[in-house]
Amino acid sequence: MKLLIKGGNLIGYDKPADILMDGGKVKTIAYDIVEQCDKVIDAKGKYVLPGLIDMHVHLREPGFEHKENIYTGAKAAAKGGFTSVCCMPNTRPVCDNESVVIYIKDQAAKADFCRVFPIGAITKGSQGKELAEIGCMKEAGIVGISDDGNPVENSQIMRLALEYAADFGVLVISHCEDKNLVADGIANEGYNATLAGLRGNTKAAEEVIVAREICLAETLNTSVHIAHVSTAGSVEMIRHAKKRGVKVTCETCPHYFTLEDSLLSSYDTNIKVNPPIRTEKDRLAIIEGIKDGTIDCIVTDHAPHHEDEKKIEFQYASNGISGLETSFALSYTYLVKAGHISLAKLVELMSINPARALKLPFEGLKEGCTDITIVDIDSPYTIDVAKFLSKGKNSPFNGYEVYGKALYTIRNEKIINCEVL
Ligand SMILES: [Zn+2]
Repeated sequence: MKLLIKGGNLIGYDKPADILMDGGKVKTIAYDIVEQCDKVIDAKGKYVLPGLIDMHVHLREPGFEHKENIYTGAKAAAKGGFTSVCCMPNTRPVCDNESVVIYIKDQAAKADFCRVFPIGAITKGSQGKELAEIGCMKEAGIVGISDDGNPVENSQIMRLALEYAADFGVLVISHCEDKNLVADGIANEGYNATLAGLRGNTKAAEEVIVAREICLAETLNTSVHIAHVSTAGSVEMIRHAKKRGVKVTCETCPHYFTLEDSLLSSYDTNIKVNPPIRTEKDRLAIIEGIKDGTIDCIVTDHAPHHEDEKKIEFQYASNGISGLETSFALSYTYLVKAGHISLAKLVELMSINPARALKLPFEGLKEGCTDITIVDIDSPYTIDVAKFLSKGKNSPFNGYEVYGKALYTIRNEKIINCEVL
């Protein structure tokens, strides 16, 4: 099949250009292509980007289908403009062996809304005691390992994980949280948590494990990826480590550069996430980290929940935000439109850098490329959680006016119109 994407704005081109795809791959990018095609997409006034990649989502299947399943999660991802997502292994059963990996891939292939790359557990059952079968899971198709939701408490096990993962060529994604330091904290420790009467969770609980992972990666000369960075201190440590040549990469989420903890006074359980929403100082440090390249990737940490798990007292509510359908818009609006970074930089954060970190064969929009996302950045709209395709309507961004809407995703010959999903 031949597809012509006509007259879109492309990063790196000074005027609108055409893209010809043949057999699911970009064959030519040029001005004014004249060719008989099976399908033409008019992209005039829109931006044509490499397919967006979210390397940290929770699709909840198997085991927690009342929150989300692979079908609804992948559909929500496509609506948000993502052509690929990586799903975390904290399902039931935990994705710590090849049969769960294969199950996830089969369900994702049936749904066919986007590519779904499973992340395997670091340890069996994510219990932190014994390494999972990393080699078998790699053969079955994982692209990384993580005990996300839990830290790997035992430093020796983390060391072994980093060494084995390096041998198998999979990325270790570390959920940095010292549970002993968190104790029973539920909100960022400090003035606003105290004012709201909520028990504090110190930023040190994140930072001590970030420091450990940097130390291990530096000592062993292996790669490590830090999940959902939320504090100024984490950003600073990662910045310095990168300067020394440590192979550390990291990610943050839209809620860490859009929200700060004075919002706790609302007791809105939709802002309850882990790590918690931090202070304004941290929020600004996250933006600085994005600007100077310390932070490599923007991910959603898409964490859909049933409304019963959020419509309860703050202390009992589940952690997480349903983020797949708002990520690009929030990032575009609060980073690009706000003047902090260029659209080209945002594409690095949401497509090129995740591909590079995971060694996925999608690096930018060029000849041979298979995955494309077309977006409208000019028309404002209001986020309405009632319209989410995700089962999880738990978002603090309901009612926000944003810019940046996905119009189409293209994966090989599969064309999805995001607005009629
Ligand atoms: Zn996590």
